[in-house]
Amino acid sequence: MAFYDALARSLEALDQAGCRRALPQVPPELVNLSSNDYLGLLEDAELRERFYAQLSGEDRLLSAASSRLLTGNCEAVQRLEAALAQAYGAEAALVFGSGYHANTGILPALAGPKSLVLADKLIHASMIDGIRAAGCKFFRFRHNDLAHARQLLERHAADFDEVFVMTESVFSMDGDRVDLNGLVALKRDFPNVVLYLDEAHGVGVFGETGLGCAHEAGLAGEIDLLVGTCGKAWSSTGAYVICRSVVREALVNRTRPFIFTTALPPINLAWTRFVLEAFPAMAERRQRVRAMGRRLTEAITARGIACPSASQIVPLVIGSNEAAIAAAARFRQAGFYVLPIRPPTVPEGTARLRFSLTAAVSEADFARLLALVTEGEA
Ligand code: PMP
Repeated sequence: MAFYDALARSLEALDQAGCRRALPQVPPELVNLSSNDYLGLLEDAELRERFYAQLSGEDRLLSAASSRLLTGNCEAVQRLEAALAQAYGAEAALVFGSGYHANTGILPALAGPKSLVLADKLIHASMIDGIRAAGCKFFRFRHNDLAHARQLLERHAADFDEVFVMTESVFSMDGDRVDLNGLVALKRDFPNVVLYLDEAHGVGVFGETGLGCAHEAGLAGEIDLLVGTCGKAWSSTGAYVICRSVVREALVNRTRPFIFTTALPPINLAWTRFVLEAFPAMAERRQRVRAMGRRLTEAITARGIACPSASQIVPLVIGSNEAAIAAAARFRQAGFYVLPIRPPTVPEGTARLRFSLTAAVSEADFARLLALVTEGEA
């Protein structure tokens, strides 16, 4: 049938371009440098057992069996939202099924025909999908170039009711960080700016209590929509937005990926809250994974390769897709599981290895990794 033949041909074309994706199997004997389990909680059996030991009542349930607006508004989710709002010192928090749900749903729920979106060139695909679904006018500003964002605001802000400025605190592919003071200054200078910050890779790792970069900088209260995800440092699943009560109410009423989906299982929500409560005591893990990020970045820069990382995510930009695939294979032979990241995930010609460091990487393995990178293995 022509339908299947056309699909096969399009996959072949991806193959030819070195861009075909396949579902990988992580060999257990390799050191995993591709997970987002930044604090190593997934492998922390002691923490997990402590969680199970205190688990009781409805928190043991494995499904919510319904959406939040029907019968899925369990106590576990209400307690989690209260704990999140309190931790951030915010009016409200709203939990979503995933970061993808949050980012595809929030903007279409809040933006209207008189809204403008200004988005960093490298924001995550989930936010791009949210912008597309919102259907409002949008411009991209050059990556981490807030002067460019400011120029766009000067030109356009007055023509719109509000301008959503969307960016990430720690960028998922380059591991670099946004200038939060500069971001907040935009809001001070343009009163109709609504700041939307995705902290997917910041929460857990940054902040004295692991609440992310904005909280660390004392600026969480200036961010109108602070999105955190729980599938990464949290080693859980789901996501949340920290916002004002009026925003939360609007989101509950209008966000399609919130309304038309089954709520997260109570056991999962209880685990997220358990981890939130454990975060303040994890300063050592945070420091360790951040220090590894710094050391790896220095090793790459010392080879004369530009590396913008300021976090636990460290890219080693290689260039062509083929060279990146070959480099990943060499690391694999040396015992490290690191994936080549290729277009369209990253810009054309910047295929790379993305080292995603976690506190579960031992000192000995990290020393071996540093030696490989320093020797120019890739
Ligand atoms: N935002 C960013 C910046 C991400 O990197 C990701 C996941 N890779 C998401 C959102 C989506 O989060 P989730 O995996 O919870 O859907």
